[in-house]
Amino acid sequence: MNEHFEKLQRYLEPVQALQGALTLFQWDNETLAPPAANEQSSRIVGALTDVYLNAFLRPEIFQLLTELKGEKDTLSEKEKAIVRELNKEYENLMVIPKEEYRAFQELTMKAAVVWAKAREEDDFASFSPYLKEIVETQKRFAGYRRKEGQSLYDVLLSDYEPDFTEKDLDDFFAIIREELVPLVKEMAEKADSIPDSFLYGHYPADKQSAFCEMLAEYIGFEKEKGVIAQSAHPFTTNLHNKDVRITNHFYENSLPSAIFSVIHEGGHGIYEMGIADDLTMTPIGGGATMAMHESQSRFYENILGRSEAFWKPLYPKLQETYPEQLAGISLETFLRAINKSQPSLIRTEADELTYCLHILIRYELEKLLIAGELCVEDLPKAWKDKYREYLGIVPDTDREGVLQDTHWAWGNFGYFPSYAIGSAIGAQLLAAMKKDMDLDACLQASNLAAVKEYLGKHIHQYGKLYGCNELLQKTTGEKFNARYYVAYLREKYHRLYA
Ligand code: ZN
Repeated sequence: MNEHFEKLQRYLEPVQALQGALTLFQWDNETLAPPAANEQSSRIVGALTDVYLNAFLRPEIFQLLTELKGEKDTLSEKEKAIVRELNKEYENLMVIPKEEYRAFQELTMKAAVVWAKAREEDDFASFSPYLKEIVETQKRFAGYRRKEGQSLYDVLLSDYEPDFTEKDLDDFFAIIREELVPLVKEMAEKADSIPDSFLYGHYPADKQSAFCEMLAEYIGFEKEKGVIAQSAHPFTTNLHNKDVRITNHFYENSLPSAIFSVIHEGGHGIYEMGIADDLTMTPIGGGATMAMHESQSRFYENILGRSEAFWKPLYPKLQETYPEQLAGISLETFLRAINKSQPSLIRTEADELTYCLHILIRYELEKLLIAGELCVEDLPKAWKDKYREYLGIVPDTDREGVLQDTHWAWGNFGYFPSYAIGSAIGAQLLAAMKKDMDLDACLQASNLAAVKEYLGKHIHQYGKLYGCNELLQKTTGEKFNARYYVAYLREKYHRLYA
């Protein structure tokens, strides 16, 4: 092994350990910690973060990375990828003056609190000055980091999807706009003919919990490597490939909420569990990109989890669990109900078809903000205009409008597109998978292991070793191609609503 790389690894070990400690603290905060713990625990997290940053940003690591730049030929594929990821993080942190970075962190922490209150009180004006400063800072940081030929938005996007530029996304979202906006309108006109009120009867939490536990295992979430807890909003986190944690949340007046959350987070979890042993706990031991991660969770949640073949063997079990609530509800009625498409105001509650229009709207707006073509004060009106244009509905309040997501308050610009790209990747993977196996037959035979094996072999095991397009090229024979997504949605919804 390259001598410098060996040394580098020794420095990385404590960095990785500190990251693990921080992850555990975060997990605990969201799941088990008592409410009063927050203030003191935040101080512990703050101190740990400092120790972590100091361990990572030490001159020895920088020196080794510099040496390794000239020694690439002596490195293995895996080692090269590790050096690549480290360099990327270093470059980002080095070009931003430390004081400015710290000030931005403080700003976003404050902004998140102000946002929560503003949302509660439907008061955009109180949040607006913070958002304005966040946009300005992100633009300035992107300016520091910009490489030749990059737009400011390109820089922000590269944090999440390094394979995509603003131009790529313009092309992608143009397809979404042209193809899906009319399809959404067409389906919305038929929505009234689909009964779904039975999904929102009374569903006791204990029964939901037991069913979801079974469901997680059924799709391939391994109990020996993972746990499921409860939190306000479901999420996935992990220490390494043998300690993956997901959460769920139970609403007694909704059957689908927890079911699709556990399948979604389970999909994220299965990805993390599938990363190869020699990559986990290294800088390339996570999912390839945000979009690739989301492609896996959405593949499980929507493509598998809302399909007829998936529910054929499972629906009788669901009916056994809720004999009264689902009495007289056929599998067909259930399937139509869980796939009902209807324009709605809240992104996180949107159905599979309308979901990407919520992302399209955020993409168009944040691009305008970063380009300086829209000022923050005018954002609520622009938001309403876009919802009217694309979904045909308008929020009465900013609470149900521009204030609904927390991401901008945290400074995350360039982040939303990953959700839509991920959905589209799922459809592209589906097309490739169907050439290699009879997916419906597997699902009907409860053989989810075959699905997991396929995804593990083509996607999961590689972690961040390859980029998004490289993985797609290897698996599907081509780079990202949004046409599969449009074709999948068209076929599915025309069949369902026929
Ligand atoms: Zn997700």
